[in-house]
Amino acid sequence: MPMVKCQQCGKAFSADAGRIRLGRAKYCSRSCSAAARRTPKEATCLWCRSTFTKGRGSQKYCSLDCANEALRAASYKKASSGKKKPNRPATLYCACFEDPWANGSIKPDKYGNTFRTPDFGLGF
Ligand SMILES: [Zn+2]
Ligand SMILES: [Zn+2]
Repeated sequence: MPMVKCQQCGKAFSADAGRIRLGRAKYCSRSCSAAARRTPKEATCLWCRSTFTKGRGSQKYCSLDCANEALRAASYKKASSGKKKPNRPATLYCACFEDPWANGSIKPDKYGNTFRTPDFGLGF
């Protein structure tokens, strides 16, 4: 049987050619394959380019913030190039992105009066 190097402990071990072909002959033992699965993998955040330890296999961003930012940027890009409005998942946006007038962070009359001030120059 062909010898392969264990990807966890580096020890050479003999593996079945069929398993090698299937990409399953990576570890010399069950404990090594289990250890490899437990070992957190380093990955680069697709958004801020910082390195982080992968929790799940599909994780692309270091944090939820980065995932949100990237998603927002992607939807902006889509909006500027495409015809359709970006369909943003509302749950990913925090309250600070809501209409500041609607959520009360700007008093309704704070700027309202400014806008409503008659413009004498224009005659109304
Ligand atoms: Zn091993
Ligand atoms: Zn990041």
